[in-house]
Amino acid sequence: MPTALPLATLRDVAPIVPGLTFAYVVDVRDHAVNRARIVRLARNADLLFVECAFLDADAAQAARKNHLTAAQAGGLARAAQVKRLVPCHISTRYADRAEAVAAEAEQAFRGASDSDAPAAQSNATTRSCDAPPARGAT
Ligand SMILES: [Zn+2]
Repeated sequence: MPTALPLATLRDVAPIVPGLTFAYVVDVRDHAVNRARIVRLARNADLLFVECAFLDADAAQAARKNHLTAAQAGGLARAAQVKRLVPCHISTRYADRAEAVAAEAEQAFRGASDSDAPAAQSNATTRSCDAPPARGAT
């Protein structure tokens, strides 16, 4: 199957389900104004594709590169009360640790005390929002 399809052909390969909403967030710095905008954009979305460019241990690098950490992304997904979090745009520096990035996002999404919150998509570690490594996220 090709990796990119013209939009008009999607009806032939993907089921169209009415009523589902998704939000897509990449290339943003974590600060109050952006957080409010992202939560408003993604509120109650069925899917939130959100960059998890860096681990929280590298939050300073994330800020320098204007990207979110996985923990920040998970917190935003939680605040927006989305149904599913799909981590994406993970820095290539974590190519051998993508599971750790997804786990950090999921932990923040679930919150420390809420085990009933929806889980991040389990196959997110092998996905990427953008096929080539994004400039500035490494
Ligand atoms: Zn980027």
